[in-house]
Amino acid sequence: MISQDDLVALVRNYNPRSDEALIRQAWEYGARMHEGQFRHSGEPYFTHPVAVAALLTEMQLDDATIITALLHDTIEDTKSTFSEVARLFGEEIAELVDGVTKLTNLQLSSSEAKQAENIRKLLIAMSRDLRVILVKLADRLHNMRTIRSMRPEKQAQKARETMDIYAPLAGRMGMQWMREELEDLSFRVLNPEARNSILRRFITLQREAGDVVHRISADIRAELDRAGIEADVYGRAKKPYSIWRKMQEKDLAFSRLSDIYGFRIITDTSENCYRVLGAVHARWRAVPGRFKDYISQPKSNGYRSIHTTVSGRDGKRVEIQIRTREMHEVAEAGVAAHWAYRDGQRSENPFAVDPAKWINTLTEGFDSDDDYDAFLEHVKLEMYSDQVFCFSPKGDVIQLPRGATPLDFAYAIHTRIGDSCVSAKVDGLRVPLWTRLRNGQSVEIITAEGQRPQSSWIDIVVTGRAKSAIRRALRDEDRERFSRLGNELLRLAFEAAGRDLSPKALTTAAKLLNIPDAGELRARVGAAEISARRVVAALYPEIGLSQPEVDASRPVAGLEADQSFRRAPCCQPLPGERIIGITYRGKGVVAHCMDCDALADFEDQPERWIDLRWLDGSHPAVYGVTLDLTISNDAGVLGRVCSLIGEHKANISDLRFIDRKPDFYRLSLEVNLQGISHLHQVLTALEAETAVAQVARSQDSSLRP
Ligand code: MN
Repeated sequence: MISQDDLVALVRNYNPRSDEALIRQAWEYGARMHEGQFRHSGEPYFTHPVAVAALLTEMQLDDATIITALLHDTIEDTKSTFSEVARLFGEEIAELVDGVTKLTNLQLSSSEAKQAENIRKLLIAMSRDLRVILVKLADRLHNMRTIRSMRPEKQAQKARETMDIYAPLAGRMGMQWMREELEDLSFRVLNPEARNSILRRFITLQREAGDVVHRISADIRAELDRAGIEADVYGRAKKPYSIWRKMQEKDLAFSRLSDIYGFRIITDTSENCYRVLGAVHARWRAVPGRFKDYISQPKSNGYRSIHTTVSGRDGKRVEIQIRTREMHEVAEAGVAAHWAYRDGQRSENPFAVDPAKWINTLTEGFDSDDDYDAFLEHVKLEMYSDQVFCFSPKGDVIQLPRGATPLDFAYAIHTRIGDSCVSAKVDGLRVPLWTRLRNGQSVEIITAEGQRPQSSWIDIVVTGRAKSAIRRALRDEDRERFSRLGNELLRLAFEAAGRDLSPKALTTAAKLLNIPDAGELRARVGAAEISARRVVAALYPEIGLSQPEVDASRPVAGLEADQSFRRAPCCQPLPGERIIGITYRGKGVVAHCMDCDALADFEDQPERWIDLRWLDGSHPAVYGVTLDLTISNDAGVLGRVCSLIGEHKANISDLRFIDRKPDFYRLSLEVNLQGISHLHQVLTALEAETAVAQVARSQDSSLRP
């Protein structure tokens, strides 16, 4: 382990103005907290945070990141707390340590390829400050470097996770060296045979071809000298995993130089980059389709470079990257370049991206031709700030828009799960279905057979998928309900007309009424789009529409011979009730119930009052009365209500839904009745029905004549 002084010196090296005292304090605090803890290797635990901090000094990161590295396991593994870290080291560092702790606590049980992309997004989304990711990556890198002391199963699991999630994440952050090393360390655990075979052939090749790197580098250098360009040339063998992946991807044999060695030419200005390119292409033939100019078109993580592949006289291909020194720094450090220091200053690399902006530009996508990012080619990157990522009990990551609820989650898994959802547990606790989900929560949906989507759900969900599934289910359910109800209404209407309701009659009626089929006809009658009586009338014109409605006789006494009569729509008086007539110009006499509020308007116009009374005896006609009905929203209730009314020899002539709540329906029902005692019979019967919550004769003052 390096010493405290070593670490301070490493930081001072690039940042002479660093807060040495605070770094030393963090060291002392971390060492004290982890006292008595040991790693699998047997070393004191604190060697690990120190190694992570040292790794981050290689990226020349700021004091806050280095101190976070020293403290990154304290909140998780020791008696230290957030508030203590905040008190000792400030809010910024406490937040960073807390961020690393949250990532550590994520149960990444599923690392299937299809989930990996979502998990990477989750990690970025959870880390409001990307320095959290930098510390987490360095943490993982050190753990992978020392993985040998772990149990074999644990090694395999960590290696898989690193390969699927952390290595690509490092690549995404623009830190290619970190990505390559993480991949190779994982490769060593996951497929040692493949790695060894590549290493063996590597050695064989080197023996046969000699020092290829040295020879090609010298060739390039000579060419640049001739052109009078100041530049450094570096050659290196690629990591075994990079070679292996390329062989897998392209089904290539292990022979092509360009797949094994890579060359880099680093110069001072971008103009010189193009001069270098000119010199290289003048000397060697460019391989078509392998040229990329990321200087004129940088990647969103700030990466700039010219890529080209040329082939020499022997036909062997050589891959070359050309960039300036500043571009190179960004290419190595990626997003981390933003926090890097040089000579005590935030290094002002013009190519470093602002991480906040970088996250927001991730929509751009990556170039599928690029070797490093080939695996990303069909990954559509989204703006993580608008997303939340939650876990299913199986460990799948479900991506949802911000504001999503457990219901959205349920529908995202499967429409069936959404439709039958009754409640949800988030992180093990029951929550209301309208709870907004947060990143990293695990969500368990509780379903029940027979549960149906509720209309109130529409306002709870935010995803289009859930909304349309709920609408569809409600529509289907309404149709079913309306169809049952329509059948009941039709049965009653046919019965009243003394005819049989046969399927054949319905099919014929549907045809006559231009309705696609009998099922649709039932649904429309149930939805009150067409009255059952019209259906009867369509089939049996001789019965006709007119029969029950005509009020030919004058059922009241007290009218002059030329006075017409009608019932006030506001109070709908029935035979047997005390009534008062009011004359309206051009409208004749309108009968109101004795207690109708409308009469108050005429108190000072006694000349308009007419004393009316219903004729005694039974009335051949029927009179419509509107009932306000609240019934529970259970299967069959509407049908039962309709049969009940029918059993009391009353017809329903209209039906409207006023309000549909998940539990209750409020509806307005127009019933044809003979008189007030008939109404009382019907009301008594309805009140006795348990599914009827409320029933009342409606008094609608807006309908006053
Ligand atoms: Mn750690």
